[in-house]
Amino acid sequence: MAENTGMKKRISLLWKISIGFFLGIIFGFAIGPVVPSSPVLSGYVMPFIDLVGKIFLRLLMMLIVPLVFASLVAGAASVGDVRKLGRIGVKTLALYLITTAVAIVIGLACGNLFQAGAGMNIPGDLQASAREAKPLVDVILDIFPTNPIASMVNANMLQIIVFALFFGVACILAGERGKKISDFFENVAEVMYSVTHMVMGFAPYGVFALIAVTAAKFGFAILAPFVKVIAAVYIGCIIHAVIVYSGMLVVFCRRSPMWYFKGVQEAAITAFVTRSSSGTLPVTLSNVRDNLGVSEGVSSFVLPLGATINMDGTALYQGVCALFVAQAFNIPLTLQMQIGIVVTATLASVGTAGVPGAGLIMLTLVLTSVGLPIEGIALVAGIDVILDAARTCLNVMGDTAVCAVVASSEGEELNS
Ligand code: ASP
Repeated sequence: MAENTGMKKRISLLWKISIGFFLGIIFGFAIGPVVPSSPVLSGYVMPFIDLVGKIFLRLLMMLIVPLVFASLVAGAASVGDVRKLGRIGVKTLALYLITTAVAIVIGLACGNLFQAGAGMNIPGDLQASAREAKPLVDVILDIFPTNPIASMVNANMLQIIVFALFFGVACILAGERGKKISDFFENVAEVMYSVTHMVMGFAPYGVFALIAVTAAKFGFAILAPFVKVIAAVYIGCIIHAVIVYSGMLVVFCRRSPMWYFKGVQEAAITAFVTRSSSGTLPVTLSNVRDNLGVSEGVSSFVLPLGATINMDGTALYQGVCALFVAQAFNIPLTLQMQIGIVVTATLASVGTAGVPGAGLIMLTLVLTSVGLPIEGIALVAGIDVILDAARTCLNVMGDTAVCAVVASSEGEELNS
């Protein structure tokens, strides 16, 4: 009976979030053109809506560090067996890399198909507006914390994951005393899930506000010259989700695509409006646990790692954009160069932080590594928000699909 009420509550929340999303788009597009000429709208209404959106973002951010650390320590300890943890790690990394490489191939195919930059004939004197990406050595070094407390203060996810894994495994090795500590973190994680549910109660309003502000700011006009790039990225993302993720779920978990899409819908919408995989993490964890039925042991390891290193949407976007830039600057891309894009975009997506706009910065790495003009960044920067929404949504969905497959492969019975 209680379970039934909980289920009903979740469904009605999902409806409210979806309604908030669509109302936000309609409201934003409708109000956008009149905002500049109305002092009331530009001085009071829009700043208030913006504030609501920002508060929602902050509430999500507030959850991440304690939730991830506590659930990862409890999760690693609950696996109970260091070898099993290693096996889950290997499977997760392999699936993350394979799905990312497939995503870039789909991105390249869409870029070739849509020919979005053809005929633009840009001479190559645009100002690049993104910062340079970090060198790879620094990216690797940055995984290892010098001070775990500083990592938490700075919300450095990879460092938190590394420390939490050591800590969780040590809880197993330390026997009785370690068990007391992991039990404590299990309780902390449970409390943090309750806080997540409270924050999600605010989600319909937060989602409305975030999407309304974006739609009002950008309107329809900005889309026109870039319709083809936007279409290539969005269609590529849809193809990847429908074919690759649904396929994985059907083949490895024997679950229908509808079951999957419905189960992760809240996380997908939250990713779309926040444009941050890390920010969405609390919602992703709760969807995968409550709706798909994945255990804490698997989800608390696979998802935080995915939110940090698995970026299928970003990789796909980099494929489309590299081709777009090449076409716009009239630079022919050989097959070899396209293979180079697959390799560098896979690595670049691993190094992309799960925050808004990070993929655009990493695009510099992909462009320079295959010899394309870095000025091309300026071309896509103007519409990056629109592309970021789709790619973040796919990034998060990719984590959930891999998480379900890994759980199934470990013999877990998913919800039906
Ligand atoms: N915003 C994306 C994410 O958080 C990263 C990107 O910009 O590609 O997943």
